[in-house]
Amino acid sequence: MTTGNTPGTRGQRRIGVIGAGIVGLATAQALQQRDPDAEVLVFDKEAAVAQHQTGRNSGVVHAGLYYPKGSLKAELCVEGVRRLRDYCQDRGIAYDACGKVVVALDDEEAVRLRGLFERAVGNGVPGVELLEPAAFQEIEPHAVGTLALHSPNTAIVDYAEVARHLAIDVEAAGGTLHLGAAVRGIRPVGADAGVRVLTDVGIAELDAVVNCAGLHADRVAQLAGDDAEPRIVPFRGEYYQLTPSARGLVNGLIYPVPDPRYPFLGVHLTKRIDGEVLIGPNAVLAMAREGYDWRTLRGGDLMDIARWPGMWRLARQHWRTGADEVLRSLSTRRFVEEARRYVPALTADDVIPSVAGVRAQAVDRDGSLVDDFRISWQGRVASVRNAPSPAATSSLAIGSYLAERVLTGVGR
Ligand SMILES: Cc1cc2nc3c(=O)[nH]c(=O)nc-3n(C[C@H](O)[C@H](O)[C@H](O)COP(=O)(O)OP(=O)(O)OC[C@H]3O[C@@H](n4cnc5c(N)ncnc54)[C@H](O)[C@@H]3O)c2cc1C
Repeated sequence: MTTGNTPGTRGQRRIGVIGAGIVGLATAQALQQRDPDAEVLVFDKEAAVAQHQTGRNSGVVHAGLYYPKGSLKAELCVEGVRRLRDYCQDRGIAYDACGKVVVALDDEEAVRLRGLFERAVGNGVPGVELLEPAAFQEIEPHAVGTLALHSPNTAIVDYAEVARHLAIDVEAAGGTLHLGAAVRGIRPVGADAGVRVLTDVGIAELDAVVNCAGLHADRVAQLAGDDAEPRIVPFRGEYYQLTPSARGLVNGLIYPVPDPRYPFLGVHLTKRIDGEVLIGPNAVLAMAREGYDWRTLRGGDLMDIARWPGMWRLARQHWRTGADEVLRSLSTRRFVEEARRYVPALTADDVIPSVAGVRAQAVDRDGSLVDDFRISWQGRVASVRNAPSPAATSSLAIGSYLAERVLTGVGR
């Protein structure tokens, strides 16, 4: 890559996007759609797109059940589903609206489930209904519980495939994808005249930058002089998959009623678009930002976690749950026990270890897990500081939301 022209001299905007995950690529595409003259450059440190969260998740297109009214998640998830479904249809990407049941196991969970139903209706999620056991067992014959919320439009898709299509679109519209191009520095040019981005493959002079660096979003934001908080804390989610003979135990998606204290949805049973059925993910603290197993440790990442006061406050509040998650991670029997609460016919012989992903979860200084999507601005650099689930579902809506603000300067 060569040094670009000084921004603003040609009347054509040059905009950089850091991160070729689904959020970065959707943002790049939305920038091009809103300003076809803009030159869009995408940088990623990896040799291919979708190597981290985008390629390592449950593959669920969430319908928007869970998110508080007025939150960005509530707004962008419902819109994101519509855009994603249309995009997949247009590009011939497999998309299966297989439906989901969220199952309450006792009366206390049933009360929370009714609350979830009200919220889903309020969020405009289509088709949701509460079902008694006989009715939800017509959908999932092997599931047990006292009450279920059925969301018929919840779907499954391969987000890595969506990201690859977006990358093709970005290049077809004249954008450039710089892979193997880790961003090392971000400097303002003059008094609000532009931004200089230093990467492994060269320097780019840009009018604006969008940081969609996922597990490294806080570090990249700091390169631009943005606040140190919230910090990203990496939570690994491990999966098992059902053996072929056990796949018939699950037709679509079976979820627990979420614990309101956590942003994670709990271990669920998920049909994948390739026909596999996954069980997971749990949530254990990863020993590295990209620590996909217990063996992967990074001193710098561990120091970052240890030095962050928010992490200690979080640990003090939730150490018992954290310890349970570790035990579940180390024991197949315990992991399967969790899933057996919903599908009792499952046994440890029905599962084999499968993939793992690491969630980029932002944590505030006071130890609270940031729940909503969060975006911060430092001059001409916008940073997506928290984009956990359902950010893959919402990606096309997030991209459009960001593109509008970057191009009009709103939010700066
Ligand atoms: C276990 C798990 C299950 C999930 N399940 C679901 C689900 O079912 N449905 C759903 O909607 N969401 C789900 N999510 C969330 C979803 O995967 C993420 O919200 C989404 O993928 C975030 O996309 P992203 O582009 O922000 O991040 P990423 O996909 O992580 O992309 C960030 C990119 O930035 C690059 N990068 C980082 N630092 C630099 C740097 N310095 N220079 C250049 N490039 C850099 C990385 O290489 C990476 O490619 C799940 C996540 C996990 C981990």
